[in-house]
Amino acid sequence: KTDLDGLTALVTGGASGIGLATARLLSTRGARVAVLDLDPGAVPAPLLGLTADVTDDHSVRSAVERAAGEFGGIDILVNNAGIGAAGTVADNPDEQWHRVLDVNVLGIVRTTRAALPHLRVSDRASVVNTCSIAATAGLPQRALYSASKGAVLSLTLAMAADHVREGIRVNCVNPGTVDTPWVGRLLDAADDPAAERAALCGRQPTGRLVTAEEVAEAIGYLASPAADSTTGTALAVDGGMAGL
Ligand code: NAD
Repeated sequence: KTDLDGLTALVTGGASGIGLATARLLSTRGARVAVLDLDPGAVPAPLLGLTADVTDDHSVRSAVERAAGEFGGIDILVNNAGIGAAGTVADNPDEQWHRVLDVNVLGIVRTTRAALPHLRVSDRASVVNTCSIAATAGLPQRALYSASKGAVLSLTLAMAADHVREGIRVNCVNPGTVDTPWVGRLLDAADDPAAERAALCGRQPTGRLVTAEEVAEAIGYLASPAADSTTGTALAVDGGMAGL
């Protein structure tokens, strides 16, 4: 018997990177797991892949109800879907601000809203949001992305306060730079990918990138009964970068 036996989980953005590592870990620990993503086609069994776009309220509601119907409820919600944006406030047009905030912030609002009726009737309800050290680190060239993750941090604290008496815990993880397909795409686009990788590694005192599995372990802990008294926190998984 493992610690998540009998529990059910929904992971947004679970077809790649941190989300996929998390879905696998929760499944290995006994949970039944649904992955909600734009294209969950390649999601391996026994994960249940559901197509949904977190910017589309109708598709989120359909996917959440499908998962809840299939599993008989939802205990764990991991709001992980997110997109990036580089630049200063001088660089990003309004449309890009709307787009990134729509995915990174409102995506959490829509999915949580849809899952709340199910979380309320679970006696092991937990929400974990994938935030970022960008929320607090003051990273250069990441104005829009940092603002979106700052909102995720504040939203996590507010949701934790709102739902603690309903028995729903809400926490977030703050990863540093994680070796995922997302970062792979950034490196591929760099003039000198090897030098860029070395620079990213050098930013983290541990001297290397964080792995998706390490972030998944932190999410798995926050989602598990072992963290039953922990709500309204941000757990850094950043190689010592933020120094929190
Ligand atoms: P990734 O690009 O490998 O995976 C993100 C997944 O989210 C993809 O499968 C994508 O299809 C999905 N997605 C994107 N938009 C979506 C939408 N509208 N609806 C549904 N699904 C959508 O990225 P990753 O590196 O694993 O990042 C996952 C999360 O971790 C993001 O929230 C990101 O901000 C955060 N994060 C990443 C890092 C990093 O260095 N990789 C650091 C800190 C935080």
